[in-house]
Amino acid sequence: MAKHIFVTGGVVSSLGKGLTCASIGMILEQRGLRVRLQKFDPYINVDPGTMSPYQHGEVYVLNDGSETDLDLGHYERFTHAPLTKDCNYTTGKIYLSVIQKEREGYYEGKTVQVIPHVTDEIKAAVGRLATDDVDVVIAEIGGTVGDIEGLPFLEAIRQFALDVGRENCLYIHLTLVPYLKAAAELKTKPTQHSVGALRQIGIQPDILICRTEVSISSDDKDKIALFCNVERKAVIEERDKQFSIYEVPLSLVEHGLDDILVKRLGLRAAPLDLSQWSEMVDRIMNPKHEVRIAVVGKYMKHRDSYKSVYESLDHAGIAHRARVLVVRVEAEEVSARGAEALLGGVDGILVPGGFGMRGIEGKIEAIRFARTNQIPFFGICLGMQCAVIEFARSILGLDEANSTEFDKTTDHPVIALMENQRSVQQLGGTMRLGAWPCMLAPDRLARRAYGAEQISERHRHRYEFNNEYRKAFEQHGLIATGTSADGVIVEIVELRNHPWFLAVQFHPEFQSKPTRAHPLFRDFVGAALQRRETSRA
Ligand code: GLN
Repeated sequence: MAKHIFVTGGVVSSLGKGLTCASIGMILEQRGLRVRLQKFDPYINVDPGTMSPYQHGEVYVLNDGSETDLDLGHYERFTHAPLTKDCNYTTGKIYLSVIQKEREGYYEGKTVQVIPHVTDEIKAAVGRLATDDVDVVIAEIGGTVGDIEGLPFLEAIRQFALDVGRENCLYIHLTLVPYLKAAAELKTKPTQHSVGALRQIGIQPDILICRTEVSISSDDKDKIALFCNVERKAVIEERDKQFSIYEVPLSLVEHGLDDILVKRLGLRAAPLDLSQWSEMVDRIMNPKHEVRIAVVGKYMKHRDSYKSVYESLDHAGIAHRARVLVVRVEAEEVSARGAEALLGGVDGILVPGGFGMRGIEGKIEAIRFARTNQIPFFGICLGMQCAVIEFARSILGLDEANSTEFDKTTDHPVIALMENQRSVQQLGGTMRLGAWPCMLAPDRLARRAYGAEQISERHRHRYEFNNEYRKAFEQHGLIATGTSADGVIVEIVELRNHPWFLAVQFHPEFQSKPTRAHPLFRDFVGAALQRRETSRA
């Protein structure tokens, strides 16, 4: 029977609960256990797919096409747990299901209520992951204890232990222990209050993970343990990491977390093996090279809007033992100040995905700069669409070329709405989503990078390369080097006579791991490194 770990957060948001859950998953996997991870988000949107990146950061896409919270990206980067639509529930998704059932007469005339109907729905969602082939299900409850909208989730996980037995459940609470400079001391009171609020709901945490800037003294740990009614050795410190998020699991293990988890849940686990992970972290801490990559996008001020892209660049750096310095460039700035001023010293330019008109011309200018200056270029989704527009305007002489997303009546719709998107009215979950196979042409950058003829990558878009122009593009040197299995949809384009210019309609950033960099990111950063080294020689 699967065991359950529930992770809640207190004091403040943005404590890195997702990272902590991912780290716990990774630690348990390294002790030979089979884990699943799941996130509950208390907001009312059915999924984050309809939210602006400013609201909630990146929308993370799974193989099955689910549009999910970006914490699921951490889960996939840290563990091998397969993720599906059952791994991310929002209040909206839970209620949608309850209301649909009510309309179908499922509740047989009963008054439908938060307790038990909504809480039952939440418990069923947790249970769905606890299949025979799973040892531990880790469920992260989004938000902070004390939020009104989080209450049904906390109530549900409280009840869950009654259903499956308290001994089969473990509650972990992640809190902040702030350091007050003026007093030169750490403050445990917010943690006490947060645990107090949790206990009022009926949940006594078994383990506290305390985020802190400085080391927590033994006395402070005693105090936290006593006031929060938690075993002393289960007060675990999680210090801010200087170099990389990938250090988190190592430090949790140093503080004994894996043994506590295994003992408390009565798991039969193998000895810990962190050798591969430690080697990877060592590469991060001791880079031998450095490379500057500009990411030219629209939501640059929000730290998390291109989360997986930044992570993938780091992974590529790890593969080359290089520190990747990311220069975040607001696309509109490129239009205002010119490409040379903003992109002059960079070794590679990446234009990621996006929606809407704002910043498009700046992205196109950045791509022109990369193309004409032989700077390695990597375009992703909207980045590929912009590369196609740029080429059409500059090389094919189609001055008005555009995507119909930005100019519905353009004479040259080199990027156009996909056939099956034309009748779509509703916004949520209606794009081309999830994993699709892609065939790679021989002897091209993509094929060499992947080392395979057929690959699978995840999508999230409505527009695509317009095949009416394919011949003209190819005759002039922008070649389709990856297509859908039937050869119809262009998924990858590459430029001839350029050191590395490649753009993809899919989102490779969703399949990169720190221990296994995505081949396209790896080769893009490799090309940038080469440019840097030859230009310095
Ligand atoms: N807005 C473009 C489309 O819908 C690109 C989407 C993306 O970059 N994810 O096709």
